[in-house]
Amino acid sequence: MQSQGRLYIVGIGPGGREYRSRRAEEAIREAEYIIGNKSYLELIEDLTKGKRIIKSRMGEEIDRAKRALVLSEEHKVAIVSGGDPNVYGMAGIVLEVAEKSGRDFDIEIIPGITSANAVASVLGAPLNNDFAVISLSDLLTPWEVIERNLSAVAEAEFVIVLYNPRSRSRVGNFKRAIEIIRRFRADDTPVGIVKNCTREGERRIITNLRSVLTYDDEVDMHTTVIIGNRESRIWKDWIITPRGYHRKYRI
Ligand code: SAH
Repeated sequence: MQSQGRLYIVGIGPGGREYRSRRAEEAIREAEYIIGNKSYLELIEDLTKGKRIIKSRMGEEIDRAKRALVLSEEHKVAIVSGGDPNVYGMAGIVLEVAEKSGRDFDIEIIPGITSANAVASVLGAPLNNDFAVISLSDLLTPWEVIERNLSAVAEAEFVIVLYNPRSRSRVGNFKRAIEIIRRFRADDTPVGIVKNCTREGERRIITNLRSVLTYDDEVDMHTTVIIGNRESRIWKDWIITPRGYHRKYRI
């Protein structure tokens, strides 16, 4: 017999309600159970009245995924991730747990605007060429691997987006990452810092690799940092990474 259950893994975007997708809102409205971190649940309070809410904490992702899958055999369940569920979000762990269980589930993954995109728009056009996304959290990835990835992308021609710049276990991660990138990139490489993007208290800083560490105190778990490539420049209050039109056309 076909059950009525379904699991939505929903990306709710960077925070501001106007940046949620219509499909994300539909899925949350349809769900009987909503599962997520306290901070994400607060961002969708307008959609969750009267629903069964399961609050979970960081570090409980495996239990959260298991519980969501079991409930989804009988009920409509939405498990929410900030930004996009594929970018350091819940999509991976839910599918891994489902795979391990050997059972069949009805799952839909709903994309969201990830921080890289939201932050890029606040800064101008910093991502407009090849870019790489790196998380500085060493809770699940060994720091040696993070360092290796940082060196590889800094040596190559990628704009670099840093997520999780401040890790609870290692407060010096951001400083270390900047030191590695400076081995390969010039001091005047543009750097953009955006905190609480599209949320209350949004703050944006445009600086460069030479001066970025003077803002070290501003960088927290709600901050994303974008480091330009060798062609990125600052124009007025914006960062521009040229796409390459100037090589082919007169602008
Ligand atoms: N799935 C999320 C990322 C989760 S990792 C996404 O797609 O955006 C958590 C990290 O995302 C934070 O440490 C921070 O670097 C970034 N982040 C999340 N929300 C943010 C916001 N509103 N403004 C700036 N950075 C944010």
